[in-house]
Order: sequence, then structure tokens, then C-alpha cells
Amino acid sequence: MVGRVEVIVGPMFSGKTEELLRRVRRLKYSKQKYMLFKHSLDKRYSSDSITSHCKDSEKCIPVCDSSELLECVEKNMSSVDVIAIDETQFFDNKIVDVAWKLANAGKRVIVAGLDMDYLGKTFGSMGDLLAIADSVMKVKAVCYVCGEDATFSKRIVQNNNTVVVGGAEMYTAVCRKHFLHCDKNINE
Ligand code: ADP
Ligand code: MG
Repeated sequence: MVGRVEVIVGPMFSGKTEELLRRVRRLKYSKQKYMLFKHSLDKRYSSDSITSHCKDSEKCIPVCDSSELLECVEKNMSSVDVIAIDETQFFDNKIVDVAWKLANAGKRVIVAGLDMDYLGKTFGSMGDLLAIADSVMKVKAVCYVCGEDATFSKRIVQNNNTVVVGGAEMYTAVCRKHFLHCDKNINE
């Protein structure tokens, strides 16, 4: 198999996890083997499964960094065809080399993650992953304020750290206009 890197990006609630799970579930029809990873920082719902906002779920391997991920894959190198990673924005920047190396070794690498943080800045290594991608899917959510396409994640609680793991109690998806101009607590 010729390797490749596929990137799925968008704001929170845009369906990145749903799309990732859809792609891995199709693999059983082609009898391909996959390994599904997430960063162990994401303990929403469960520590060893990936769960979408619609509670759709699949077992996964939680890892704390890109070298642990590579180690896991290398132990199964001859049997695994596809490496799928959710919440990729939480990984250190070596994840770009790992994706590159695995694709060069003939693996299909699918990474899903937030392209921007709550301030609209590139999140982690997602920009570099987009640059080396063979294919990119940018998914959109629905703006919580006006119903337009939402491409931004807005934090609705007071906290200035870049990484604060949370769901609908902490974040909402908004369009550009409401990312820039809506300061009211959207949850009210
Ligand atoms: P992501 O991984 O991008 O955060 P998920 O795949 O976990 O997203 O969940 C996507 C689902 O979230 C949608 O199918 C929908 O049911 C739900 N959802 C909740 N809020 C929104 C929103 N504002 N826009 C679109 N979908 C939303
Ligand atoms: Mg997700």
C-alpha cells in the first residue's frame, strides 16, 4: 500500500471525531487493520475510548506523547495498515515526523484535531500536519448564535490556559462574526 497522511480539522462540534470513526469503521470491509489513538490528556467520557458529542464510541489506545504512539505502532508494524489519531492538537511537534515516517513506510495515517485554539491561533502542530497532508477535510459546526457555518471554537468560561479540556460546558462553536463580536455568556 502507498502511504498517505489524511487530516481532518475544524472547530469543536464540527464532526471531526464522527468522520474519523466513519473512516476507521469502513476498514473492516477491506479487511484492513487499524490502530486508533488519542492523547491521554483527553479523559472526557472515558480514558480508553474515543467518543463523539453524539456519544458514538470506539475503543482506543491512550498515549501521552508521540514517541509512545510510535512505539505502539512499531510493535505492530507488519500487521497494521492504518493509524488513526484523535485530538492530535494535544501532541508534541514530533507527531509531524511520526506521521511522515509512517506514511513513508506505507501506512495510511489519519489525524483529526482542532485547527485553532480558543483564541483563533494554530493549535499545536496542526498547521504543520496540514502542510504535509495528502488530503485535508475541513469540517464546520453550526454557529450557536446565528446558525451560520461555524469555524471557530469559543471558550465560554474564564480561563487563559491554551489547553483546557472540556465539552459544551466550556466551549461553543461560532462563526467569524460571533467569534469576534459576541462577548456575552452564550450559555445564558
Ligand atoms: P468534534 O469531534 O469535531 O468536536 P463530534 O464528532 O464529537 O465533533 O460531534 C459532532 C456532533 O456534535 C454533531 O453531529 C452534532 O450532533 C453535535 N453538535 C453539537 N453542537 C453542535 C454545533 N454547534 N454544530 C454542529 N454540531 C453540533
Ligand atoms: Mg472530537
